[in-house]
Amino acid sequence: MTAEDGLPSETGPATWSTWDRSGTAEDVRTLRPQTVEQLSEAMAAAAAAGLSTRVTGAGHSFNLLAQPQELRLDTSELVGLQEVDRQGRRATLLGGTPLIQAARELDACGLAFSNLPDTLHQSIAGAISTATHGTGAGFQSLSGQVVALTLVLASGEIVECSLTQRPELFQATRAGLGVVGVIAAVTVQCEDSFRLHSAEFNESLEPLIAGLGERMASADHFELYWNPGSDSAHTHIMSRLHRLPSEWSAPGSRMAQGVRRSDDAVLRRALPAALNRLAGAAPRAIPGLRRLDSLSLSSRRYTDLSYKVFASSRPVKFLQTEWAVPLEQLPETFREVQKVLEREQADLGLPLSVRCSAPEETWLSPAHARYTGWITVRQFWRRWRPETFEALEEVFLAHDGRPHWGGRHNLQAEQLRPMYAHWDDFLAVREQADPRGLLLNDTARGLLGL
Ligand SMILES: Cc1cc2nc3c(=O)[nH]c(=O)nc-3n(C[C@H](O)[C@H](O)[C@H](O)COP(=O)(O)OP(=O)(O)OC[C@H]3O[C@@H](n4cnc5c(N)ncnc54)[C@H](O)[C@@H]3O)c2cc1C
Repeated sequence: MTAEDGLPSETGPATWSTWDRSGTAEDVRTLRPQTVEQLSEAMAAAAAAGLSTRVTGAGHSFNLLAQPQELRLDTSELVGLQEVDRQGRRATLLGGTPLIQAARELDACGLAFSNLPDTLHQSIAGAISTATHGTGAGFQSLSGQVVALTLVLASGEIVECSLTQRPELFQATRAGLGVVGVIAAVTVQCEDSFRLHSAEFNESLEPLIAGLGERMASADHFELYWNPGSDSAHTHIMSRLHRLPSEWSAPGSRMAQGVRRSDDAVLRRALPAALNRLAGAAPRAIPGLRRLDSLSLSSRRYTDLSYKVFASSRPVKFLQTEWAVPLEQLPETFREVQKVLEREQADLGLPLSVRCSAPEETWLSPAHARYTGWITVRQFWRRWRPETFEALEEVFLAHDGRPHWGGRHNLQAEQLRPMYAHWDDFLAVREQADPRGLLLNDTARGLLGL
């Protein structure tokens, strides 16, 4: 069935919103293609009708980057594993596949992502498009793990690209903010399935920050969580168990896994949510409640499949800003952030986290060409104070920081352009791929200066 303007009939809900509910769009014409061919037909019809078209993933960005204006291409049914090259350890997934589904389907074939973010509800194409990352100084973001892409351009044309085939299109689209083309399928360089040993500790903050570079270099995957006002932090060290015989690295007994799941459900999900509600009702109790929250994160060790250890659930809604700074500037940047938050007596409601990642070639990855330290600051949605993020923005900019494309920030093209050596190359590829600017929305225009 097609509508009068040649577009397939609407196949999705007309309302779009972000995970944190800070961005919405009502009554938007929505299509839900299930195949690459349907996607291409939809794009060709939208181009013929001259409609501004935005492709959306799982809505897990904390800004209006994905916000549709005239037409939304919802990729939630463009899902599944298409092809596996077991010997070359490569797999091709449709663009809308949620990371959790991708990780499970890869595991069933004996494969795994090298590294993953801390939640797995994003679509693989949406995650790539903002250079979503995990932690580990030797590991790149998801966009760095991609080796080939199938794109549908604004005209509806289907094209392939990789490091060797149309390499400029590939480098632009790997973190392409949804403005170069729609990613229909993604080929990922995987590795054999592996297990991770996870060790979590409470540690004194000051020596931890003083030795942060060494701690990050000496662990496969390292992250820390810290609540403003506290003089200790919670560390999470993940070690890869590739080379151990599998009987030495088996996930704990059923009972141990049950205890861990209860620990996750009660202490790490229900308790922070309840404390946030209590803090809202009794602000004077906040320092005591935060101490209780820190104590609940006790030391523990466990082993499990990599994707189950990389990610944790996020039961409480929050707003987030995240910045990438040169790794060597991370301790100093952290101390400045600490000063601002303590000066403002900021009650974030959730701990901030610190992670790291390897340099990348991807043109608009915030980790482009440098070892990167990431600082993520979250605010519980009920106590959202934009001034706190604004004050932090100055600190990050003073330390050569680049904002995460999926996070909150106030930068526009004139500030972003000098941060990226390939900015003009990116704009040239975008202009060639979509000369009429059909894939842009107001947010993307502001970010790119178009
Ligand atoms: C609870 C939570 C935890 C998070 N944890 C992390 C983390 O650990 N590390 C990290 O780096 N980030 C993290 N993020 C941020 C998140 O990973 C990114 O914002 C990601 O881009 C969201 O993916 P999505 O599928 O929801 O895409 P959306 O938010 O829907 O879209 C993001 C961008 O991708 C584009 N896009 C979507 N699909 C396509 C497609 N098929 N082709 C081309 N472009 C497309 C959109 O147009 C838009 O520009 C987290 C977010 C949340 C809410």
